Amino acid sequence: MTDCVHRDAATPSPFLDGDPEREHLRPAAQRRTFLKVAGAGGAALTFSAALGAERAAATSRPALGNRAYVIVVDGCRPDEIDSGLMPNLQALRAGGLHFPQGRSLPIMETIPNHVMMMTGVRPDRNGVPANSVYDRALGAERTLELPTDLKATTLMTLARKHGMTAGSVLSKEYLYGIFGRNATYRWEPGPIVPVSGHAPDPFTMDAALSIVEEFDPHLVFVNLGDVDRVGHTDLTGGLSLELLRRTALVATDLQVKRFVDMLKSTGRWARSLVVVLADHSMDWSLPHKVVSLTSPLAADPVLKGKVAIAQNGGANLVYWTGPASQRQAGVDRIVAIAKAQPGVLGVYDRARVPRLRLGANAGDVVVYCRAGWRFSDPHVLANPIPGNHGHPTTEPIPFFLAGGHPAVPRGRTSPLVATTVDVTPTVARFLGLPFPTGRWAWDGRSLLG
Ligand SMILES: [Zn+2]
Repeated sequence: MTDCVHRDAATPSPFLDGDPEREHLRPAAQRRTFLKVAGAGGAALTFSAALGAERAAATSRPALGNRAYVIVVDGCRPDEIDSGLMPNLQALRAGGLHFPQGRSLPIMETIPNHVMMMTGVRPDRNGVPANSVYDRALGAERTLELPTDLKATTLMTLARKHGMTAGSVLSKEYLYGIFGRNATYRWEPGPIVPVSGHAPDPFTMDAALSIVEEFDPHLVFVNLGDVDRVGHTDLTGGLSLELLRRTALVATDLQVKRFVDMLKSTGRWARSLVVVLADHSMDWSLPHKVVSLTSPLAADPVLKGKVAIAQNGGANLVYWTGPASQRQAGVDRIVAIAKAQPGVLGVYDRARVPRLRLGANAGDVVVYCRAGWRFSDPHVLANPIPGNHGHPTTEPIPFFLAGGHPAVPRGRTSPLVATTVDVTPTVARFLGLPFPTGRWAWDGRSLLG
């Protein structure tokens, strides 16, 4: 059942999506529609949608044609698929095309890798190099969670331009924020777990099932946040943390099974591509294996008061904030001091290492920590979280193509290095969308040939 609610009027806000009671605050030109549907769990679910989308759903719902589903098991390690705790994901992988060389890309964080999945281009072109950056205009560190932070065209927008529909079911508030109104149908995550800022997987999957069954978008982008959030949590110590993680793996595996079962029971499986991957892996550190750069940088007479840090768990981004004329001298000092810290794996003068493809938003110096370590700034107790990512040890990710469509290879393993920027071209090839050329060409390539 679809119930449409239209509202009128005045002040714009980027955060109105999903809140029908406040939609009347939006100018008429920006109004959109809210669609209420009965969820799989029995409760009513509300999706925000582009104006007119409800008519498309009601009157011209496509019954045939390819459907692509991208499911991100946030923070899952490749070895966890084979742990015996995720038999459904293991079977799904065995029936499709597996990429054992799946890789997250720098910075190995959630927001940049989801953006790479949906834009097909690296951060120097999409504007989103990390979860957290130092905003020079603001003079403060902040999360890249605004629609205006994303500078490249997304796959969802491309699909809509070519007459298709897209859905987003993203468990984390900042992902919902940065993708804004890209999808035709958008679920606002909820209920939100305090502190973690994400909706638990059973609710996220309820929304994913509903969006597919009710609106049947050509493309649906799903983020399941529980495995990652349990990986970060340290409520009860190391042993229990492992137990919590194992419990989350089992539970999330069952949620993915619900999705596959729905595709099969509703007759969608034979025309579906299901891309399953993680955005990054996970590494755990002990409390004494912490790198804090704020103090050693502030202790240097050249750098004191002229440096800012954006902390991203396993990677730190360091920004020179002093006079431009002294920038290179400052950067050289930052590099030398960071290299001398125990637990630091690598230090890069970003502008001189173009292969990082991070762009100016990532600051002047990129610092990675070693496996088993984490960054904690501005002081050693600022980041008490044992589970982190962003550093090279968290690059390997699970990555496979599944689904019942004849275009999906069966029971094969590929030696290719598959990365998060490959998702957009792969799905575009499957849906028959045109590939941009010239300066707009994607950095990734189709894994379906
Ligand atoms: Zn993540």
